[in-house]
Amino acid sequence: MTEYIVKENALPDFFQALANGRRLLAPQGQGENCQLAPLNGPLSLDYANTHMSPKGLFFPQTEKILAFHKLVDKPHYNVYQDLGDHSQPTVIFGIRPCDARGLAVSNRVFQNDRFTDPYWKGKYEQTVKIGLACLEPFPQCFCSAMGGGPFGENGLDVLAYPKDKGLGLKALTPVGEELLKATKAEPADLASEIKELEQKAIEAQGSLDDYKTINERQIMELYKADHWPNTAEPCLGCGVCTFFCPTCHCFDIQDESNEKGGARMRNWDTCMSPLFTVHGTGHNPRPSKTERVRQRFMHKLKYIPIKQDGVRGCTGCGRCVVMCPANIDIRSVAALMAQASA
Ligand code: SF4
Ligand code: SF4
Repeated sequence: MTEYIVKENALPDFFQALANGRRLLAPQGQGENCQLAPLNGPLSLDYANTHMSPKGLFFPQTEKILAFHKLVDKPHYNVYQDLGDHSQPTVIFGIRPCDARGLAVSNRVFQNDRFTDPYWKGKYEQTVKIGLACLEPFPQCFCSAMGGGPFGENGLDVLAYPKDKGLGLKALTPVGEELLKATKAEPADLASEIKELEQKAIEAQGSLDDYKTINERQIMELYKADHWPNTAEPCLGCGVCTFFCPTCHCFDIQDESNEKGGARMRNWDTCMSPLFTVHGTGHNPRPSKTERVRQRFMHKLKYIPIKQDGVRGCTGCGRCVVMCPANIDIRSVAALMAQASA
């Protein structure tokens, strides 16, 4: 794959070429207002990350997946209308490597050799993802400690970085290469510069995969460890950690109807809610907070890596650490899991 540069004065043409008949999204706004939105103002490259993860673009908080109405002369019959996946050709510029990696984890949940979720598939596959590497670590980030990195490539079509007020770019997939060729980006040899910048960024972040011993431990050894009641004790069960997390993907499906018809809605759900696992019989296999909190961390750090060739369900984006009202920090929990004895 090829590397390219775009000089400062060529940026407007570059973004116009990226848009070309597609929806172009880029980080807009500051702080808690920073989100991926249609690019319609000056681009800032110094944001830490978007407040919410980008998963909502592919897996909306609430999504109408089916509508139905009753026939006037046969009220017991419903007519269904599949509403499709609401997808459109899109380019995202400026997704952080941690979030692209998070989307790649969810992609293997929504599309695998057993299932294909059509609502996810259409949106994910019609989106070209251009990542923006992190030259300096932000205080809340720990991607390297979770097996990723500030120049991570997983889930991206192109990796970009700020260069002399313009951009350096590395194509990572044929789709990314094709897109860059269609712009006026100039081919360049950036391999050694990228390697050097990556090394600097990793060193500045300071920790490289701190929690490897979790992979070596048996599930039951981690599961039965005695720290879980204390770990769970401060949790309020609010679910904020899961709603902000780029890899949390649980949902609930509900039909909302009246005498004329209705709609089938898919809504984000959370394993931190006691209702999440209640069976039709009323039995709840995770009745206590300790079981629910343990499930969240075991899922991120043990079950997902088992199913996804060692890739963790935590990307180190730091959102749950910042947002948790009870100050529960996944790094501390991972450290306890790495040391735990049953
Ligand atoms: S954000 Fe914190 S308090 Fe809320 S459910 Fe998650 S761990 Fe518990
Ligand atoms: S568990 Fe927390 S730090 Fe890890 S990816 Fe999810 S929100 Fe980010």
